[in-house]
Amino acid sequence: MSIEPTAIASIECADLTRGVDAYLDGEFDARERAEVDAHLARCPACRTLVETQGRVRAALRASLREAMSPPATAGRAPAALRARIEASIARERRPVWRRLVSPLPLGALAACAAGALLVVTTHGGDDAMVVDAVRSHHRGLPLEVMAASVGEASIPAWFAGKLDFHPSPPPFHGDGVHVLGARLSNLRELPAAYIRYALPHGQAGLFIVDDPRRTFAPGGREVQVGPQVLRVVNARGYNVAVWRENEIVYSLVSDLDEAALFELVRTAQASR
Ligand SMILES: [Zn+2]
Repeated sequence: MSIEPTAIASIECADLTRGVDAYLDGEFDARERAEVDAHLARCPACRTLVETQGRVRAALRASLREAMSPPATAGRAPAALRARIEASIARERRPVWRRLVSPLPLGALAACAAGALLVVTTHGGDDAMVVDAVRSHHRGLPLEVMAASVGEASIPAWFAGKLDFHPSPPPFHGDGVHVLGARLSNLRELPAAYIRYALPHGQAGLFIVDDPRRTFAPGGREVQVGPQVLRVVNARGYNVAVWRENEIVYSLVSDLDEAALFELVRTAQASR
């Protein structure tokens, strides 16, 4: 498929820095890849970043394979763990272990490989949607509408005609909390409204989907916050709060700790 150059949104170095993992994981579709490639063609700094990250990953993979070699020395991965790693590596496309392990510094790999992999096995519920939300937020793709240009209050209206439902973002507020902008997204097969917020430290991303068939049923812990019951899932270093209002499911992805995440959810309840 060919991409019209004019259709390619321009991405910034910061976008690329946030999205480099997803890019190297091959998670971008043709249009997103074209956006990145166009940027790389004119930005030597980002080219260097991508090359460096690519080398780190190759080394990481080599280390994992080495950890799985026959146990000539003490302290190798136990047989059951090795079997799981082997099964993961056999799964050609987007092995989960790589995604979980890749943010770790290479030096920490030997110490942490077992622990990081155990995270995979404790997954009981179906967190596919949550993992998708984290992946998409982490990728940090450019926003399609900026609150700075249309005003925060116009963001919900921007989605009109683009989705089969009317997303109504909760009015989170607080010092340093404001809407940056939005874009269309999806969680698995469900079209999603995605709204990015600036927080006093870092950012958060809110996904809103219409899920009348209740396919979105994450695991994690159940936590009561005010009148709402949240599901809290930790994935790839992000805390995600998921809650449902009738057919609509909200997923708030952030690197806040749980207490701060609950507090943010609470600020929206207070003003509803
Ligand atoms: Zn750049």
